[in-house]
Amino acid sequence: MEPPAHPADPADPSDRAEARAKQSGKGKWALVRSLNQTLKTYAVLPGDYVWMDLRSGQEFDVPIGAVVKLCDSGQIQVVDDEGNEHWISPQNARHIKPMHPTSVHGVEDMIRLGDLNEAGILRNLLIRYRDHLIYTYTGSILVAVNPYQLLSIYSPEHIRQYTNKKIGEMPPHIFAIADNCYFNMKRNSRDQCCIISGESGAGKTESTKLILQFLAAISGQHSWIEQQVLEATPILEAFGNAKTIRNDNSSRFGKYIDIHFNKRGAIEGARIEQYLLEKSRVCRQAPDERNYHVFYCMLEGMNEEQKKKLGLGQATDYNYLAMGNCITCEGREDSQEYANIRSAMKVLMFTDTENWEISKLLAAILHLGNLQYEDRTFENLDACEVLFSPSLATAASLLEVNPPDLMNCLTSRTLITRGETVSTPLSKEQALDVRDAFVKGIYGRLFVWIVDKINAAIYKPPSQEVKNSRRSIGLLDIFGFENFAVNSFEQLCINFANEHLQQFFVRHVFKLEQEEYDLESIDWLHIEFTDNQDALDMIANKPMNIISLIDEESKFPKGTDTTMLHKLNSQHKLNSNYIPPKNNHETQFGINHFAGIVYYESQGPYNSILASEPHFRYWVQLAHPQMSGFLEKNRDTLHGDIIQLVHSSRNKFIKQIFQADVAMGAETRKRSPTLSSQFKRSLELLMRTLGACQPFFVRCIKPNEFKKPMLFDRHLCVRQLRYSGMMETIRIRRAGYPIRYSFVEFVERYRVLLPGVKPAYKQDDLRGTCQRMAEAVLGTHDDWQMGKTKIFLKLDVLVVGYP
Ligand code: ADP
Ligand code: MG
Repeated sequence: MEPPAHPADPADPSDRAEARAKQSGKGKWALVRSLNQTLKTYAVLPGDYVWMDLRSGQEFDVPIGAVVKLCDSGQIQVVDDEGNEHWISPQNARHIKPMHPTSVHGVEDMIRLGDLNEAGILRNLLIRYRDHLIYTYTGSILVAVNPYQLLSIYSPEHIRQYTNKKIGEMPPHIFAIADNCYFNMKRNSRDQCCIISGESGAGKTESTKLILQFLAAISGQHSWIEQQVLEATPILEAFGNAKTIRNDNSSRFGKYIDIHFNKRGAIEGARIEQYLLEKSRVCRQAPDERNYHVFYCMLEGMNEEQKKKLGLGQATDYNYLAMGNCITCEGREDSQEYANIRSAMKVLMFTDTENWEISKLLAAILHLGNLQYEDRTFENLDACEVLFSPSLATAASLLEVNPPDLMNCLTSRTLITRGETVSTPLSKEQALDVRDAFVKGIYGRLFVWIVDKINAAIYKPPSQEVKNSRRSIGLLDIFGFENFAVNSFEQLCINFANEHLQQFFVRHVFKLEQEEYDLESIDWLHIEFTDNQDALDMIANKPMNIISLIDEESKFPKGTDTTMLHKLNSQHKLNSNYIPPKNNHETQFGINHFAGIVYYESQGPYNSILASEPHFRYWVQLAHPQMSGFLEKNRDTLHGDIIQLVHSSRNKFIKQIFQADVAMGAETRKRSPTLSSQFKRSLELLMRTLGACQPFFVRCIKPNEFKKPMLFDRHLCVRQLRYSGMMETIRIRRAGYPIRYSFVEFVERYRVLLPGVKPAYKQDDLRGTCQRMAEAVLGTHDDWQMGKTKIFLKLDVLVVGYP
């Protein structure tokens, strides 16, 4: 991304231009810098729109739009897009620029913006948002600004209006994307995909649901399978969504839903892939956040008799549910939701027994979270004991294990040294971690089992004969690039995924751009661009890449976060995309991602000095529930005693969800795959699938942090525009001819510069006139080219306009 020139930059050529224009001594004048720096005059009048660049250097600041109110004795008064008045004196004229006509009232497709830069895109989104127009295109990319209010634009009538239309025929809409996916698929017999991205709370999941709703409506069978596909959502959301500070229904996992259609275009099945569920949430929530919805729903919705069987009370009784001091969620009726979840599970063929087994595990988790521990010393070692309590008895009975076995494996650990097994006690801290790891292990595997169960109902593997006729539309609802105050291992995985998606996106945009030049017969051979291949190579492709080094260290028994960081440093310190720690005490390393540098915290508080300060550790874990070291998170293993406990259980269901682990445990020394290797693999599969599809992109934008309608935070939106990678469109455009005018627009706009040129409507040969004007004003060089319907320019002609 090219940084915009600072307004006070002395090298700014408009300064020189201004000085020269003053020498020319005209009364009413303005400055125009043409490409070859000749000066022309152009006046700003009341009612004109301008860009005002009063940036203070703040990271996400961009020029703001303004309208001229008064021109008075050399000064002009403007009112900016936020309603603030400014007086601009002649000395400050360089801070304003005339606005391209397309930016004044906004456009439906931002590819048409003359001012195709951050300020232009931001203003376009802003003025449309104020008119409740939340959708805008950039070519076939849909930008969706979260309205945070119900808009009446999703009715069956809207579905009808958007059915079988070309993009651009109707105002921008999520339905238009769904419609194009569907009809492209049918027309071209090609699989389609739609990549929906954005920050938490931006509207990805709602957009996914709207596309699904549209596809179900127009494929028009109202079949059982279609119903099943739709009912998968409430189940996934119950187990995988939670209230966070940013979003009351935040998906804590990524998903790809591949919907399959038969020859006639009816839904005949689907398959869901899930990515990286946030397991730590089951044990820990930040203030004002909740655990997964399903727990609260179960406690509100289950009947008393069943609750009694599970030994359950109310949400406030459980540490794992009450930690965030947030039990209810405004606008959510947990008991009603429970009924919905249950009925959805019926539709997806969950049996009553399976349902009950799931409830037993959920209840066991809650009881485990209420265990009480006391410090002990045993042969001079820190040890602890789990106090005998109803929680312990109930947890053991639900897990169908002997209470002493449960107690033992939560407080001690068996080590095998030189063929001998030795049991060592765990300190209270360690024991709490073991308990939490067990709970996360149960929940994570339960989630995987549920997704598998859903797939068993909705996925029909294609038989040989339908293989060729089956088509699909895939919807990717995945966490966007983010940069927090503290970024941990999961964030690296997420940003790595986004790095991949960005490359996919950029290559697609570049292809579209080439197609436009081809259509207009513009010579585009000299356009060069580099994508983020280097960063991707460093993270995951080249030998000794970051992911593989983390993995290697995770498998190495003596590996620690510190040794891992050393390896990363020695391998990558010379790579310009890697930022090593400043000194030996620093535990953060940085990666220069497509959207900016992110620093990752390699250590958990356990490994660092924080371990000696329990209070601080507790605080850090509350504030950053995901803070443990890279290696521990990547290994994601349960120790052998826990696996042994599961193996000894009489509960068939828990044994089933731990099946792979139990099998693995039997085979000595074989390790379960690390998180990053699993994630990398599923990401590669995903990229392969996407690569075979015709893609659409939906970029969701959250206009404010308060979940409020009609509030547009400029800095927040600029940040998301940058992180969305959409600015790449601009970079690619800038590499070629970013400014485009239709012949009419060009003649009307620049006629003032050439006395004697008639208005456009009086011209017979508009293209010829344009060409002559361009030659006269711009000279003959390759800074501009004539297309078939447009003139393509490298830079705009007008730089400063001022009375
Ligand atoms: P994400 O999946 O990106 O984290 P969601 O799709 O869950 O975000 O949206 C967060 C919230 O924003 C929703 O619960 C809803 O209140 C609101 N929202 C999102 N999209 C829309 C929309 N198109 N119309 C109305 N409200 C929306
Ligand atoms: Mg979501």
